[in-house]
Amino acid sequence: MDSFNADLHIHSPHSIAVSKKLDLDTMVETCKKKGLDILGTGDVLQPDWLKYLEKNLKKDSDGAFSYKTVFFILQTEIEDLDSIHEVVFFPDFSTVREVQKKLKPYSKNILGEWGGRPRVNLPSTELVDVITDFGAVIGPAHAFTPFRAIFRQNKYATLEQCYQDAVKKVKFLELGLSANTDLADRLDSLKNISFLSNSDAHSESPRSLGREFNKIKMENPSFDELALALERKNQRKIELNVGLHPKLGKYYNMFCNKCRRRVTFGKSEKTRDTLFNDYTISEEFIKIVSQNPLNARKAYINNVSKGKIVCPACKEKINKNIKIKLGVSERIEVISTSAEPIHPNHRPLYFNVVPLMDIIRAVKKIKSTNSVTVLKSYDKMLNELGTEFDILIDKEIEEIKKFDEKIATVIEAIRNNKVEYTPGGGGTYGQIQLEI
Ligand SMILES: [Zn+2]
Ligand SMILES: [Zn+2]
Repeated sequence: MDSFNADLHIHSPHSIAVSKKLDLDTMVETCKKKGLDILGTGDVLQPDWLKYLEKNLKKDSDGAFSYKTVFFILQTEIEDLDSIHEVVFFPDFSTVREVQKKLKPYSKNILGEWGGRPRVNLPSTELVDVITDFGAVIGPAHAFTPFRAIFRQNKYATLEQCYQDAVKKVKFLELGLSANTDLADRLDSLKNISFLSNSDAHSESPRSLGREFNKIKMENPSFDELALALERKNQRKIELNVGLHPKLGKYYNMFCNKCRRRVTFGKSEKTRDTLFNDYTISEEFIKIVSQNPLNARKAYINNVSKGKIVCPACKEKINKNIKIKLGVSERIEVISTSAEPIHPNHRPLYFNVVPLMDIIRAVKKIKSTNSVTVLKSYDKMLNELGTEFDILIDKEIEEIKKFDEKIATVIEAIRNNKVEYTPGGGGTYGQIQLEI
């Protein structure tokens, strides 16, 4: 049996806000740098992208698709009638075409130029039935995000509530960038399902592609083997989930739906408590100060859940009543069944990583995400030390120190969970805080 590094949810230039440079060649380039073996194709139901993939992907004797040195799983994301996003994997191109035909009457954009992630007006239960009847595999995408996800605010709290009788046919759940297994395993109803950590990349950049991935133990990189691994059958399984610390994700913290400020809590110097009335507003944050921030936060989350809290910044600055929305971490607090994670025996380790380019940027104090200095340093590091995943996960820190002492120290701190993060939220990514 082999181990494969797989990022199984990405998009194509036929989805909104995707890099025009993203194609099989640029994907392969990035996979080589990162150490990725398998990629989801993204958007496989979109007719132009489907044609391009059919023309270029080669099918091996064991049923795996490949382009140059990288293997591919035929994959898409669908938005259902409930506005829930689902990730779908297909065994072969003929199944993709059959599903496309079957879903067409329920979708206005599935054959459109921008139909990369089609909206299909079927309830979640029926969509699961249709997909699995064709032998494809489906599961909820970025399950906890505040928008278009199964567990979003005012939506479901368990898989059963959403999928009802079809729940048995749902074989995985995608954590999303702002969640990890420590958060998701606080929900008892998720103990039997396999978790996937995927990038949902909209670009070929090494900052995006493979920023989350799964190490999967299987015989070969085919759909059949992946299906077995998701069900943990015949020794096939997910061995490791790798991804951003949840605080680095875009939706970890609660936020205002309009000004997108994140709401945080701090200790007040005052002796008398004034519930939620004391706060400071900055460009990006609303900080609520209280004598007992922990209790205040709890009460606040409870009220946000009920739709009772308006954004003080929007009230003050534009005289509008805009509701605060829960982030991933607070939503999980609300629907969790335990205060601490209870990991089932089959659950693999979740390993925190930060894209190497972002570590280099932070160390060199460079803001720009496409700085030539950072790019040069990144390529030089890979040339000397190996793939990005090697450097982030396996390489001896002493070896990395020979290249750059500061970068090595940061990687060590991230590996040992000794880094402070400014939490992301409301669409803004979190950041690592460095004191070097
Ligand atoms: Zn999505
Ligand atoms: Zn606001």
